[in-house]
Amino acid sequence: MDYQSVLERIANDVAPQIGRGRPAEYIPALAAVDRRHFGMAAADIDGRVYGVGDWQRPFSTQSITKVFTLALVLATGGDDLWAHVGREPSGNPFNSLVQLEYENGIPRNPFINAGALVVTDRLQTLTGDASSELLGFLRQESGNPDLAFDPKVAESESAHGDRNAALAHFMASYGNITNPVPTLLDHYFWQCAIEMSCADLALAARFLARHGIRADGSRLLTRSEAKQINAVMLTCGTYDAAGEFAHRVGLPGKSGVGGGIVAVVPGRCTLCVWSPGLDARGNSVAGVAALDRFTTLTGLSVF
Ligand code: GLN
Repeated sequence: MDYQSVLERIANDVAPQIGRGRPAEYIPALAAVDRRHFGMAAADIDGRVYGVGDWQRPFSTQSITKVFTLALVLATGGDDLWAHVGREPSGNPFNSLVQLEYENGIPRNPFINAGALVVTDRLQTLTGDASSELLGFLRQESGNPDLAFDPKVAESESAHGDRNAALAHFMASYGNITNPVPTLLDHYFWQCAIEMSCADLALAARFLARHGIRADGSRLLTRSEAKQINAVMLTCGTYDAAGEFAHRVGLPGKSGVGGGIVAVVPGRCTLCVWSPGLDARGNSVAGVAALDRFTTLTGLSVF
């Protein structure tokens, strides 16, 4: 398939959407990003990468990293994780507290903030340094040794992190968090503050299109675990808009409030799109439109 021509056509088609929506305002460092950026990359399963617009410009990955921490915890600690976090769409905003009390401190899924805090807590217990472990993994899979945290974003999140702190303390009261909450929050904020480009993210996510096989040919996940992650991305990766995303795009996808979205075509390729203007649910307006165009133009969806 001629990925480059498809991406160029998409960039042209979604141009009217670029700049729509608003950057995440509850994290001041993200509110300052120019919403007119747009980039998109595709990586095939052999690691050839194609791109348009700002596809090589680093941006704040935010919740997209939740996919990679989940993969590392499944790879290192196995199925035990699923006793501590569910696999159901929440139907609520990504930072919601409301379901936790009814469900005994067990979050609905690993991609809402509560669930991601549990996953990061487990990675911290398994490795002793969750955020460094994650950064090292992303450097290896993307082939980019220069990937780094943005300390300004991490500090900004920490300074405005009352909601995440509340989620973590509440789950700790049910015994579902084992590390000290301040340590966990530090690793969670650093994890959200990793900067990557669309090219880096499309390359790093390839193990999900390769049924669990890493960039160096070794196995990270069983075929079944890779399927499980893709399934949870499809049903929960875009929060309370996951039904809409499945309807429009029809691919496993994970968004972040930095305006990025990663999507997977199992067996074929990975995609990453970035544009900072978000809709009311925290998903990139132009990003969703671009992925919608991709599956419409190519017919490549999981359906
Ligand atoms: N760092 C953000 C937060 O914890 C991540 C949320 C997101 O990208 N949806 O609020």
